[in-house]
Amino acid sequence: MKKIALSILVSTFLLFIIITMFNALSLETRQPVSEPFNSTIAENHAIDTLSKAIQFKTISYQDRNKMDLEEFDRFISFLEQSYPLIHEQLELEKVNGYALVYKWKGTNVNKLPIGLTSHYDVVPVLQGTEGKWEHGPFSGTIADGKIWGRGTLDDKVGVIGILEAVDHLLSQGYQPERDFYFMFGHDEEIGGDEGAAKIVSTLESRGIQFDFVLDEGGAIVENMVPGVDQPVGVVGISEKGSVTSELSIEGSGGHSSQPKDQTNIGRIARAIAKLEETQFPADLKGPGEDLFEFVAPEMSFGMKYVFANKFIFEPVIEKILLRQPASAALIRTTIAPTIFQAGEQYNALPEKASAIINLRLMPGDSLKEVKDYIEKTIDDQDIKVTLNGSEASGVSSVDSWHFQTIQQSAKNIYDDAVIAPYLMFAGSDAKHYDSIAVNTYRFLPVQLTSQDLKRMHGTNEHISIDNYLKAIGFYMEVIKESDQH
Ligand SMILES: [Zn+2]
Repeated sequence: MKKIALSILVSTFLLFIIITMFNALSLETRQPVSEPFNSTIAENHAIDTLSKAIQFKTISYQDRNKMDLEEFDRFISFLEQSYPLIHEQLELEKVNGYALVYKWKGTNVNKLPIGLTSHYDVVPVLQGTEGKWEHGPFSGTIADGKIWGRGTLDDKVGVIGILEAVDHLLSQGYQPERDFYFMFGHDEEIGGDEGAAKIVSTLESRGIQFDFVLDEGGAIVENMVPGVDQPVGVVGISEKGSVTSELSIEGSGGHSSQPKDQTNIGRIARAIAKLEETQFPADLKGPGEDLFEFVAPEMSFGMKYVFANKFIFEPVIEKILLRQPASAALIRTTIAPTIFQAGEQYNALPEKASAIINLRLMPGDSLKEVKDYIEKTIDDQDIKVTLNGSEASGVSSVDSWHFQTIQQSAKNIYDDAVIAPYLMFAGSDAKHYDSIAVNTYRFLPVQLTSQDLKRMHGTNEHISIDNYLKAIGFYMEVIKESDQH
C-alpha cells in the first residue's frame, strides 16, 4: 500500500516537472526581428535646431498668468523658419492660439490617420538651483556629445525629433499614403486642458478618428525588470488614474486636560494606519501582466520557469513585486497620504481633523469601488470620505498592428533592447487622445538611466546626441512602418 502511494507521489511529481518544464521551454519570444535602419540624418541641422529650441523659455506655470505667451509665439515662428519645407507642404493649424497641429495629407482617404504628439512647454527651473546646472538650463549648450537644457528630454526632443524626421522624409520626396497628424501641446506640464484637450475637441468635432496616437511616456531603461540583462523599452498602453481623497471628522473639541479616549486626530490617524496596513489588493493583470508576457521569454531560465507557470507561481510573483514600490505600483491601486491637518493650539483638542490621500488607480478600478473600499477598511461612520479625480485611461491593445509598428520601429533602432508594454503611473497628454484613437501609446524613444529620470524635472537635464539622433530615426521608422498597413 505504502509502495503504491509512494509511486503515485513520485509520478505526480514527475508529471508536474515535465509540464512546467515544457511550459518554460515552449515560451516563444514576442520580439520582432530587427530590420536595419539605413537612412542618413542631417545631423548638423538636427543638433543645431534642438539646441536653439531649448533656448526659448516656453515655461508652464500652475498660475497660467505667469506664462510668457510671447515666448511661445517666438518659438512657433522659430519652427516656421527652421522647417520651410514642412511649412510649405503640410497644413499648420494653431488650435487655441498655441497648440500646433500639422497635417501631412496622404493619398488614400480610406485609411485612418496616424497621430504623433508631444509638447513644447517645459517645467520651471526650481528657484535657487540655477547655479547647480553644469550648463545653463536655457543655454542649449552642445558639449561632450550632449545637448544641455530644460526640455532636452521632456519633451522638446519629441517636437524637434518628429519635425526632423518629417523634414528628412520630405527632402527624400516621401509621400505618405495615410494622413499623418503631428500635434504639439503647449501646456502638458499643467494638465493639457488648453492644449491637447482643445486639439482633441477640435478634431473630434470634425469626425477625425485615428488608428493610433503615439505620445511620450515610457523609455528604454536598464535594470528595471529583474532577470532581464538587456535594456527594456517600455511602451505605455495605459495610465493610472489619479485621485485625491479627503478623510475628515468633525466633532466636539474640548480642553486637553480631560480628553476622550478617542480624539479626532487619533481617529484620522487610525484610519490612515488601517489603510496602510490593509492596502488595496494586488493582482498581476492587465498591462502589468502584459509586460511580463513580453519580457519573460527573454529572461534567465529560472525566471522564465516561474513566469511560464504563472498559474502556480502567481502568489510568489506578486509577493516579489510588492517588495519594491515601483513594481508594487504595477499591480495595485496605491495610497499615499500627503497632507494631514488638525489642531492650532497645544492645549486645545481640535474640532476638526482631516487628511488628504493621493491614490493612483489601476485600470478597471472605479471611483465608487475605491470609495467603498476605503470606507469599509477604515470602518468609522463618523469619518467623511470624499473622492476627486479621474479613473485610469483605457488599455490599448498589444496584439494590434499598431503596437507591433511601434515595437518594430523601436527594435530597428535599438536592436539589443526588449520592447514591451507597461502601465504608466504618471499622467500624460495621451489620455486626452483616448476618445479619438483606436489605440493610444506612450513611448519616448530614448535610452535613459535612473540619473536621467531624476534630471527630467530636475537639475542638469540633457540628452546625448546619439540618443537624440536615434529618436529621429525612430520617428522616421514609425511613419514608414505604419504607412505600410
Ligand atoms: Zn512631458
